[in-house]
Amino acid sequence: MIVISRHPGKEKKKYEDKLIKFLSGFAGAELLLIPHLYYLKGNFAVYEKLLKHNGAIFFASWLNKRAAEWTLLKELDFPKGFQIQHLSLASHKTPENAASAMKKAAKMQAGGKSKVFDLSKTAVSERWYPVIDHSRCNNCGECLEFCLFGVFSKSGKKVLVEDPEKCKPGCPACSRVCAKGAIIFPHYFDDKKICGLD
Ligand code: SF4
Ligand code: SF4
Repeated sequence: MIVISRHPGKEKKKYEDKLIKFLSGFAGAELLLIPHLYYLKGNFAVYEKLLKHNGAIFFASWLNKRAAEWTLLKELDFPKGFQIQHLSLASHKTPENAASAMKKAAKMQAGGKSKVFDLSKTAVSERWYPVIDHSRCNNCGECLEFCLFGVFSKSGKKVLVEDPEKCKPGCPACSRVCAKGAIIFPHYFDDKKICGLD
């Protein structure tokens, strides 16, 4: 399945529409359109569709790879062996380039028709919160001690983002106290590490 997480603004609409047009012509592919991944919150129809899918997922979004992967993983408990491959649309100048990278990754053939599921009109609103990269986090608890607003918690030994809505918009402070570089703010593009680019 190919999933396109649409940009929250209108400025990428032309690019995305073109990309969707290309991808709709891939034989036998399933194409799922969803709203901006970082803004999804309890959007069960979207998550249900992803979890029900039996097979690899090729995921494209405007977020950086690490940011997109951990934003998705924080919500979904994918079964072991589940494959997700992310493509950052920001690193493909044209929709043609993005479509051809997707075609190669998913080993698809042009000249057919995809099944399109459009859930991109699902209402979402702007959000700002940290996302933990658990492949880097050592559960030291520094962020938990540091944040005055109760965003983090601990479940057993594992540090989690418990209450994302309590985070202060625009503040990436805790990412700077994390010695492992494990805290991502996907929209903090001023710093490569913080937005998940490195
Ligand atoms: S400070 Fe970083 S490494 Fe320590 S628990 Fe928080 S996210 Fe994990
Ligand atoms: S950015 Fe600030 S408010 Fe948000 S989780 Fe980190 S320390 Fe807490």
